[in-house]
Amino acid sequence: MLPRTMSIVLSLVAIAVAASSAASEAGVPAYRAETGHCVLEWSDKPDSAEIEWMSREAATLYRRVAELLGEQPADKITILLEGPAERADGRRDYPRVDSQGRIHLFKFGPDAGSYLSALAHEMVHAFRIDRIRTADWFFEEGFAEFVALRADPSLAGFPWFDFPVTIVAGQWVAAGQGIPLSALRERHGQLNMACRAQSYSLRSSFFDWLGRTHGDKVVIATAKMQPAGSLTDYEKFFGKPFEELEREWRKALMAEYRAIPDADVLAKEFRQASPIQYQPVCSAGKDF
Ligand SMILES: [Zn+2]
Repeated sequence: MLPRTMSIVLSLVAIAVAASSAASEAGVPAYRAETGHCVLEWSDKPDSAEIEWMSREAATLYRRVAELLGEQPADKITILLEGPAERADGRRDYPRVDSQGRIHLFKFGPDAGSYLSALAHEMVHAFRIDRIRTADWFFEEGFAEFVALRADPSLAGFPWFDFPVTIVAGQWVAAGQGIPLSALRERHGQLNMACRAQSYSLRSSFFDWLGRTHGDKVVIATAKMQPAGSLTDYEKFFGKPFEELEREWRKALMAEYRAIPDADVLAKEFRQASPIQYQPVCSAGKDF
């Protein structure tokens, strides 16, 4: 149970949506729905089933994230549903939280469900944006992924594409493409997006392992430090320096990976048949 009980109102009010008078930044009318804690705005007119479904999913994820973090923001979170990730000018857009704390989501296929794959992760950032200073983006991203794995264990979408965490993270390490966490921590700006196929899943696996071996509550307590993610906090909260924790995690990950009987078959399927095949992969010696 959580140390603090919160009353979370999940009333799906105002789901009856019409072309409201709200206008998006581009001057295009936005289609709006509100739950107890979220405001959803679509760039393209959604059908009523999508409105109801997305509102329900947003309310559920909000409740789970709030329960895990033991706190919630004072204001409603705005979620902007902006259509296909492929933009008209050929750019590809990525889910993110802007400086006002609004979540931007994009569709990665024809199905509106693909909006949801990043929602739990982005919601963690939106919960924390004005409240927690971060020492380190490695920690902040890893923590968002850790909470997302607990709040939304579906593993749909990037970087899992319906494969288990141990297979996805394990196969990078097994293939000699497991970027050292120290490099991801020290060179976040350079490696995070350029090596995103690897960076997101390796960090997720590390924080997931920290939670499983030291307790989820310890990871969550670490995240409440101001600033969160200082190198010295790993020793303080997990009893060992970062480098030692990294060595232990790699060893445990490889043992878990090798224990899956068809790990190499699944790894091949992940690399060759899932959408990860379209992502750039960074190589040892060249990129990290
Ligand atoms: Zn993030």
